Amino acid sequence: MSRFNVNSAEIEDYVEEMAKNPRKDAFYPQTVSRKLNIPLDIVLLELSRLRDDGKIDLKYEIRCLEDLNTIITVDDYNSLLEKELFCEMCGKEINITYNHVYPIFYINNEYKEHVKKNCKIKIDKK
Ligand SMILES: [Zn+2]
Repeated sequence: MSRFNVNSAEIEDYVEEMAKNPRKDAFYPQTVSRKLNIPLDIVLLELSRLRDDGKIDLKYEIRCLEDLNTIITVDDYNSLLEKELFCEMCGKEINITYNHVYPIFYINNEYKEHVKKNCKIKIDKK
């Protein structure tokens, strides 16, 4: 039953490329979906698999919907729902709902270190 899954491999490669990039720490699932032309629900499924492997960490940005300013980035947003947060951009208190929550994936630091080291290993061509 084990079939090679192209989408799965592409997403994994994409995440690995980001891990190699020293200026890249985090990404949105929507970006992966757009760049690879893979439906978002499949992207999220594969990313949750990579998260289970510990390669990426899931966090949530709480954003103001008026100016899309990120007010805060958290590991768990549940305690913020129905609470008021202050947006410095528009100077307003915002009542936080699910609409303000944007998932963002961070490349795991240890995975990033591992990829960096692996880049240096050259495979001999025979
Ligand atoms: Zn705002």
